[in-house]
Amino acid sequence: MESALTARDRVGVQDFVLLENFTSEAAFIENLRKRFKENLIYTYIGSVLVSVNPYKDLEIYTKNHMERYRGVNFYEVSPHIYAVADNSYRSMRTERKDQCILISGESGAGKTEASKKILQYYAFTCPASEQVQTIKDRLLQSNPVLEAFGNAKTLRNDNSSRFGKYMDIQFDFKGAPVGGHIINYLLEKSRVVHQNHGERNFHIFYQLIEGGEEDLLRALGLERNPQQYQYLVKGNCPKVSSINDRSDWKMVRKALTVIGFNEDEELLNIIASVLHLGNVQYGGEEGNVCITSDTQIKYLARLLGVNGAVLTEALTHKKIIAKGEELMSPLNLEQASSARDALSKAVYGRTFTWLVNKINASLTYTDDSHKNYSVIGLLDIYGFEVFQHNSFEQFCINYCNEKLQQLFIELTLKSEQEEYEAEGITWEPEKFKGIISILDEECLRPGDASDLTFLEKLEDTVGGHAHFVTLKYCLAVDWLVVPDCKPLNICPVRFLDKNNDLLFRNLKEVMCMSENKILNQCFDREELSDKKRPETAATQFKASLAKLMEILMSKEPSYIRCIKPNDSKQAGRFDEVLIRHQVKYLGLMENLRVRRAGFAYRRRYEVFLQRYKSLCPDTWPNWQGKLADGVATLVKHLGYKPEEYKLGRSKIFIRFPKTLFATEEALETR
Ligand code: ATP
Ligand code: MG
Repeated sequence: MESALTARDRVGVQDFVLLENFTSEAAFIENLRKRFKENLIYTYIGSVLVSVNPYKDLEIYTKNHMERYRGVNFYEVSPHIYAVADNSYRSMRTERKDQCILISGESGAGKTEASKKILQYYAFTCPASEQVQTIKDRLLQSNPVLEAFGNAKTLRNDNSSRFGKYMDIQFDFKGAPVGGHIINYLLEKSRVVHQNHGERNFHIFYQLIEGGEEDLLRALGLERNPQQYQYLVKGNCPKVSSINDRSDWKMVRKALTVIGFNEDEELLNIIASVLHLGNVQYGGEEGNVCITSDTQIKYLARLLGVNGAVLTEALTHKKIIAKGEELMSPLNLEQASSARDALSKAVYGRTFTWLVNKINASLTYTDDSHKNYSVIGLLDIYGFEVFQHNSFEQFCINYCNEKLQQLFIELTLKSEQEEYEAEGITWEPEKFKGIISILDEECLRPGDASDLTFLEKLEDTVGGHAHFVTLKYCLAVDWLVVPDCKPLNICPVRFLDKNNDLLFRNLKEVMCMSENKILNQCFDREELSDKKRPETAATQFKASLAKLMEILMSKEPSYIRCIKPNDSKQAGRFDEVLIRHQVKYLGLMENLRVRRAGFAYRRRYEVFLQRYKSLCPDTWPNWQGKLADGVATLVKHLGYKPEEYKLGRSKIFIRFPKTLFATEEALETR
């Protein structure tokens, strides 16, 4: 039989807290590597779960596995995402406190997969009645729908989330999921009209074209060839080997049925009309632009349910008000194309939000007896990403990630302190430099902030900070590292443009008249009478993130920190440089240090006794007295020295991992 020591040599430790050399990043990464090679993709830092994307299907998500983790204590089984899910669920039920599970990591690290695994775990393990089953099905089926409309192939990830998602699962007093609610964050709308090389538009377009039935395509005026559509050719990447658009199409259609969707026709009309809009070409003389062919307009009029002539005028003119009179001023070629693209983005973006609302309506449980539900929230956002050229989207995505990182640091630190206090243990807090609030919130201020002032401000405030590496990573690297600031010219125009996110008034007017049931709800006439300038995209995003932080703060958090092992989406490849980088900016070493600052390891008395009672004749087979006394007797027998441990009100705190190692070994070699 393999001894405990060699087993550890081979598979590493399952909790980083047990690492002998806990300040060494090399030791940390070595432990990750050992486990990764053995397909052990999960490791704890205390109660935080670190997960490395295996890029292959592992046999660890079976029903048997789910059973194994159900109702079992964290430390009694090997690390697993199910343990985190189960732990949150039990805390929710026993402590009656709302929970949230925060999943973070860069693009392609496995966040979305993780959130799906958690949802599947609840769907399988939680009690169910017939009604509850419907909700479970809808919760599960909301994923393929939202992914079809909100995910796309990027250079980083073949199924990259291009929107942020926070989902509440609501449980009744019996612990059955009775409802849900989704909040979506800033969809990357610019993808509708433009994709970088090697990337695609949102999945749904290809699904419809590849999977749509002949009759359907004919009715929508579409051809079965993505290359025909201007909005699908920019990235020069119509097919992806890991994606089967045709079978995904079937899955999405089925999912829509489960959700109880009955606006299929309207929805398909909208998807098709975006493709037709992309093919609207302009010609004519400058100052007198016209649409060169009316084929698209004919389809558009029918699919959008609007008047073709009015639409044509709105796509070529801008309404201005001079001396109280309305005038139509012709657009130039560039303005006309950007008006067309703005319309496509608005139509798609608003339809997406409409879809989320629709799903929410289907997840609303109407039975009054369930008003008093408890909640587990799941946060799956777009991960950190840095491309060669980074624009507004990366700015927002990375800003959001930094906000969450900040929250993580605050909450983990805070909860540590609270635990020591609750247990009556005095603790010298480690001097911990909080991870900086990266994007100086001022920089999101529209108007006078330029990319240059923005950069200057950053360098002034945080340039000398130890975490500036994180910053550089977070903010479009090419802006910050190239010395003579030329790259600043790369994005500003589009950056501001995207932030303004304007749609000409006459285009709005057309859409408000739409007879398409969905669009009719998306474009509200009230918007037209609103004189105020709408808030910029960044301002709205910032506000919605602030709200998200409040939601998260009001719940008890659990964390899953996802790591991407390589940039080539390959199984078995452990790219050390890339991983070290992630360990750094996820702040995992700091996390570990905080965890180890005082007493590294803590266990509830009953758990500790249960596990080690066989090592002491006085506690075996059962300790009859007070739990604390039992533990005291046990550790005395084991020869723990006073400085090695502290007994709190309900837990034992152990300072050095080697103490626990020895005890674990005693157990294994007994
Ligand atoms: P983004 O920020 O771009 O949305 P993400 O962190 O959500 O990225 P995922 O889409 O979850 O990344 O994962 C990317 C791919 O990695 C998946 O499509 C899948 O192929 C693979 N993958 C992730 N997690 C696992 C897992 N636990 N087991 C097997 N494969 C996985
Ligand atoms: Mg994702």
